[in-house]
Amino acid sequence: MSNEIRVRFAPSPTGYLHVGSLRTALYNYLYAKKVGGKFILRIEDTDQTRYVNGAVKNLLETLESMGLEYDEGPEKGGEYGPYFQSKRTEIYNKYVKELLDHGKAYRCFCTPDELDKKREEHRVKGLDTRYDGRCRKLNESEINDHLGNNDKFVIRLKIPQEGEVTFYDIVREKVTFPWNMVDDQVLVKSDGFPTYHLANVIDDHLMEISHVIRGEEWLSSVPKHLCLYEALGWKPPKMCHLPLLLNSDKSKLSKRQGDVAVEDFLNKGYLPETLLNFVVLLGWHAPGDQEFYTLTELEKAFSLKRINKSGSVFDLEKLNWMNGQYLRNTDLKVIGEYARKYFIDAGYHITNEKHYLELVDIARNRIHKLDEVTEFAKPFFSKLEYAEEDKAILGSESSQILFKFWVDNIIDSPELNEEFINGLLNRSVEELGIKGKELYPPLRLALYGSEHGPELPTIMDILEKEKVLLRFKNVLK
Ligand code: GLU
Repeated sequence: MSNEIRVRFAPSPTGYLHVGSLRTALYNYLYAKKVGGKFILRIEDTDQTRYVNGAVKNLLETLESMGLEYDEGPEKGGEYGPYFQSKRTEIYNKYVKELLDHGKAYRCFCTPDELDKKREEHRVKGLDTRYDGRCRKLNESEINDHLGNNDKFVIRLKIPQEGEVTFYDIVREKVTFPWNMVDDQVLVKSDGFPTYHLANVIDDHLMEISHVIRGEEWLSSVPKHLCLYEALGWKPPKMCHLPLLLNSDKSKLSKRQGDVAVEDFLNKGYLPETLLNFVVLLGWHAPGDQEFYTLTELEKAFSLKRINKSGSVFDLEKLNWMNGQYLRNTDLKVIGEYARKYFIDAGYHITNEKHYLELVDIARNRIHKLDEVTEFAKPFFSKLEYAEEDKAILGSESSQILFKFWVDNIIDSPELNEEFINGLLNRSVEELGIKGKELYPPLRLALYGSEHGPELPTIMDILEKEKVLLRFKNVLK
């Protein structure tokens, strides 16, 4: 066994990446970077009933958009592959045979119906609902009879029947479970496929994983895993279970209360940078009060010792706030690139790159996430619609005089720059006697569709001369 630090992210491809899994992946990645170890990606796809088309592709793409590059895994390969559990069945079979031969595991021929019935009976009587272990006691000829009849069976691990197990977890510290809380775990299902528990332990060992860093929901599986390590004569890796993620009402973070898929957050225009920064703080913080981190900074600052024990609330308001900060403080060109797809999806054709960036720049100061950018940009790209009261303002005598004056002056001007527009605004006051409420609201309404909005020179600059003239002409009688 090498002394190298090797950690793994071991998702089951469910079709999307949960934010909790993103945190698990991130903490594993950061720990590996921090100590100069290896970050391994292993796909736990043994459950054929939960197979989702395209799930692995989606998972790999999401990890890539988040910038979490793995050292060994599905598309990269590595010395410890294959990295898909579905391709490792023969490896598992070898160890299952060993467990059976050494009397550490046994075939259980009880049918699901029998088990359900027994469990229900025990539940009603308030008795122990674990498997009663009756097939542990089958002798060789009984086993052969079942096999001769082609009876279906699962393979179970022999869990100690008394005493307790104590282990050390990096976050929870000393943890003790009595063995009478632990069932004789099924290792191989009746379809011959391994369960998560079997494949996970074998792979962690064979891939020489030094630290298992994963969600707290797996803490109660540690006893059976330790039992399995012992049965196989292996040394278990170090354990590190991350605190639960909670909704604001302190219930476990669930899909029902809002988005949990990283893809959904990305599609809504939360930046990958924001998500990483937000997620890393769900359960970890550095000694100081620094709130904003780049991935590179985190690679230096992260430590397992500073992971919290208690659950972390997923605060959507904080995420929105943080994303707003990233939108405003990131290089405009970068934001422009992230924003482009929303313009394309909305069918807004970008003709002038400079004006596009100007628009994104105004928008990013007023929105929390990038999918709001098109709503903001809409007046620049789509035909303006007017309510009755707007039409009254546009049709008033002074508005009409004003619009005509602007069209006449704009037609021959080479460029609609700020100086020229401000000059025209002054001349409207001086030469036409139109000012205040009769000046700005009608102009904005004519060009932008609303009495309020960005500064007039900005609106005209972004629209460009041709569109400005067209919009004036549309409201002239
Ligand atoms: N396949 C498990 C999951 O998706 C992995 C748990 C573990 O890291 O051991 O959560």
